[in-house]
Amino acid sequence: MHTTEFELLETLSQPVCPVCTLARREARTYLVGVFEDGINDPAVRDDWRARGGLCARHWREVREFDSVLLPATILLRDLLGSYLDHPSPVWKMPDCPACKREAEAEVRHFKALLGIPEATMLKALEDGPGFLCLRHLVQMPPGTLRNRFESRLISFLPELDELERKQDYRFSKEPLGNEKDSWLRAMRALGGEV
Ligand SMILES: [Zn+2]
Ligand SMILES: [Zn+2]
Repeated sequence: MHTTEFELLETLSQPVCPVCTLARREARTYLVGVFEDGINDPAVRDDWRARGGLCARHWREVREFDSVLLPATILLRDLLGSYLDHPSPVWKMPDCPACKREAEAEVRHFKALLGIPEATMLKALEDGPGFLCLRHLVQMPPGTLRNRFESRLISFLPELDELERKQDYRFSKEPLGNEKDSWLRAMRALGGEV
């Protein structure tokens, strides 16, 4: 079995969309690489300058990295300086290199997911709480597996009802069960890797 297929199956053991999660992880690995030792690579610097840097989401992610201050300072000085040297009359959204990696990884992982034998996927779904976000679910071909993914999302609804019920002061002493993270799962179903 391919590493990607193995990773996808492994990720189904967590309450996340495996395609979104692995794609996001790949973008993060790329960013960690750049801030750890890619900062002095002229090709990286040229690429980032041409693209205008990262999107807000990925800058936010970088901000949380360990020991990022010095490489970020160098790179930001470069990006801002270069922009101010050649200001554009209209502001353009950065063409984020991490988003590009993420989008490429997403396509690759989704294709790999479709290549996994159905029985293996059904078994992984039986054993783990993984699911597909809505964006990836609609791309699934119709059939047993898609139905299984769909019914998993449908199963979130009574859990959300139960979670809501237990927020009521009359029932708030009841211990939380599996429904405790249903709001996070629903958020990921709607928004991807959140
Ligand atoms: Zn997804
Ligand atoms: Zn981005």
